Amino acid sequence: MNTNSRTLDRVIPSVATSDGAGVKLRRSIGNQRGLYLDPFLMLDEFGTDNPGDYIAGFPSHPHRGFETVTYMLDGRMQHRDHLGNVGDLGPGSVQWMTAGRGVIHSEMPLQESGRMRGFQLWINLPSAEKMKPASWRDIPAQEIPVLELPQGGRVKVIAGTAQVGDRALMGPINTTAQPLSTNPLYFDLDLPAGTYFEHALPADHTAFAYAYEGSVVVGEGVAARELPTQAAGVLSPGERVVIKAGPLGARLILLAGKALREPIAQYGPFVMNTREEIEQAIRDYQNDVLIKAA
Ligand code: MN
Repeated sequence: MNTNSRTLDRVIPSVATSDGAGVKLRRSIGNQRGLYLDPFLMLDEFGTDNPGDYIAGFPSHPHRGFETVTYMLDGRMQHRDHLGNVGDLGPGSVQWMTAGRGVIHSEMPLQESGRMRGFQLWINLPSAEKMKPASWRDIPAQEIPVLELPQGGRVKVIAGTAQVGDRALMGPINTTAQPLSTNPLYFDLDLPAGTYFEHALPADHTAFAYAYEGSVVVGEGVAARELPTQAAGVLSPGERVVIKAGPLGARLILLAGKALREPIAQYGPFVMNTREEIEQAIRDYQNDVLIKAA
């Protein structure tokens, strides 16, 4: 057993809640005031076969000061923003949006029946980047690289680089050419029963796993602990992680990022460093200048 192997420090269960115009979802990180996992602010899983749970969508709303990452597993959503951009998100696609100074957008279902499933993750921005111009990318499923694991299963690389054996695959976000300040790693893992995933992580990065199907065991030897389905498992510091599939196999996301260690002031969709900056964001939104260039 390698002492640098990360273990499961604590588990943040997801709780049923709703957001937007009444979309039902499960929130783990961020489900209580101040329950952040620096630099991660919130993780919502939405997943249902019932259109009544998602049909109302997320009508026009603002963001300032952080990044939102939407990862669709099933179903179709459409993003529209204040600049007139329209993006269709289909199964397996990702939208990575840097709200920066401000975005006003809507996120609405493009379907009236069938399954809708995916995640929205909020990642904080350092104070120096909170007021930068907004930007976003819609990344279709076929642009997200998939690496088959030698011991079975596969990893989809959304952000950062996966290195397995002598193979390395870089995802479309947080590339060597365009690194992000939080240096995020975002993997989607499919691990059939009897398989495992082992990967290096920067030793001091915050990291967590969230199994959306099945369960996993995190860590090795006497330190191995089970992470149940639909809960965020916060990992201890360490240079690598070993995740084994539970008896029914598992599908999970694995996230890591550099903590910002800055004060956080949040009011709904605004995340800044101080209360004064939050009050400014509210005033800017009310005065219709949230999205105006500084
Ligand atoms: Mn939004």
